[in-house]
Amino acid sequence: MHFVYPSKCPVCGSIVLLHEPSLERITRHLGSWSRDGWNINLLCATCGRGYTHDHGETPSYQTESEDPYLLPSGPTVFHAALKCDNENCESPVVVIALRDRGATEESVTAELPKWNTADLTCSRGNLAAVPLRFQKLFFVPID
Ligand SMILES: [Zn+2]
Ligand SMILES: [Zn+2]
Repeated sequence: MHFVYPSKCPVCGSIVLLHEPSLERITRHLGSWSRDGWNINLLCATCGRGYTHDHGETPSYQTESEDPYLLPSGPTVFHAALKCDNENCESPVVVIALRDRGATEESVTAELPKWNTADLTCSRGNLAAVPLRFQKLFFVPID
């Protein structure tokens, strides 16, 4: 039994389900990059909008089923660190992209032109540099 937190894209309304066991691992992985462990930045798989997950927006519920992110056939989690618009700042704008199992660094990189991180900032308050550029992109190991 664990909690599921639906997260809704503010632009297209797509919902991604955050499962507590894997979400806890993702936020632990974010470490000092996450100011508030639960307020992670997500990248909508449908429209490419980056947004901060609002924990209070949609009601959570409990489920008996397995956390799909922890299953071998489950989705994959990417950590995308985007360069911010201050050349002297080494802190990137960090977003998490939850994608299907088949997603690769190549397929996520190919999404870059459609991404829009809007008002998301790095830990020093700088917006992402446009056009978006990766400082780093990698799988988040959650199992
Ligand atoms: Zn969207
Ligand atoms: Zn920065």
